Amino acid sequence: MKITIPNNYSGRILSVPYSRALKQRIVDLWAMMQELDDNNFPALLYISAWKKDEKIIWYEYIGAELSLLFNCNCRDMPECFRNAIVERRVYSYGERDSARIREKILTREELRTDLGRLRREAQKSGAMEAIYKMALPNGEIRWFKDLARLEPHDQDGIFLSLGCLTDVSKEMEQKDLLQKIGYFDELTKLPKRKIMRRIMEICLGQFERKHILDFSFLMIDIDHFKKINDTWGHQAGDHILFELAQLMKANKRKEDEVGRYGGEEFYAVCIGSLKSGIDFARRLRRIIENHDFSYEGQQISLTISLGIAAVSELAEQRIKSLINLADQRLYQAKKQGRNQVVGGKQ
Ligand code: GH3
Ligand code: MG
Ligand code: MG
Repeated sequence: MKITIPNNYSGRILSVPYSRALKQRIVDLWAMMQELDDNNFPALLYISAWKKDEKIIWYEYIGAELSLLFNCNCRDMPECFRNAIVERRVYSYGERDSARIREKILTREELRTDLGRLRREAQKSGAMEAIYKMALPNGEIRWFKDLARLEPHDQDGIFLSLGCLTDVSKEMEQKDLLQKIGYFDELTKLPKRKIMRRIMEICLGQFERKHILDFSFLMIDIDHFKKINDTWGHQAGDHILFELAQLMKANKRKEDEVGRYGGEEFYAVCIGSLKSGIDFARRLRRIIENHDFSYEGQQISLTISLGIAAVSELAEQRIKSLINLADQRLYQAKKQGRNQVVGGKQ
């Protein structure tokens, strides 16, 4: 049966003597993507292609919306896309530490020199995933997540990339804004101390309006952390701070917040009764005591001391008094021998 070239086709494969199987694949994919685009599929679909070991990339298909966005046709797409890139980001889980998400940013210039390597990596893994910050022809800056699956056609020496772009501008702008205002601490990725004040102000407002019955504040301090630095080194200390932060984050309830107060001190704000705050503090103490922290193959253990105070315990409900009371109790926990929770009437 003869291969029918679709209307508006401006790719290459169907016009050059490639295998029948590859051509049929293009015709089928083309029809499928066209059908989805005609039905307003909520992603921008494309098929790109390149010859094994060659640098040039071209497009076999781009949807009408994608063409409109970049103000270009299928033939000009590689150049339009490249020219619009401001930066490319890739997020991946750390090799040594899967709780850590790595962010790798390449600028347009770096991308140009790295393109061959990126394509080889994608060929090996069979997939491609990146986020692009793009300056569109209409002057707008938009973020797109690019997800693609690679299809090798060995007989023809061709790679097809079946992909879609999704607009993730809202999410990335929010993420960048949080970074810009210094919401998160660099090392632990937890909210900083100044954010804690804001969280407590919001909680206090809700308490005063009786939207919540109580909330408690925890001061958390690593025991003998100086000794850990002295024994294992500052790098190991840094890693432990990060790992501890992830453990606390993983064990808190959704509505609670944990953050870095500074140095080897952390805080938590727990909504609910003092008892539920104390339960959380005790659970945390136990989890940390039983956890094997690891750094470069070394198993390191540690303990924490916690002081906790609930807003309902105060004669005058002020944030400063709440922090002071929790701090006094933390001091008491240290004095009484560390690795313990002091709070409320116990
Ligand atoms: P205590 O049980 O009384 O709390 O003893 P401690 O050794 O934990 O307390 P101390 O206040 O004497 O020492 C805190 C140590 O924490 C000293 C400092 O070098 C270390 N530290 C603070 N911030 C960081 C950091 O960001 N990274 C590393 N590696 N160490 C830090
Ligand atoms: Mg301390
Ligand atoms: Mg300490």
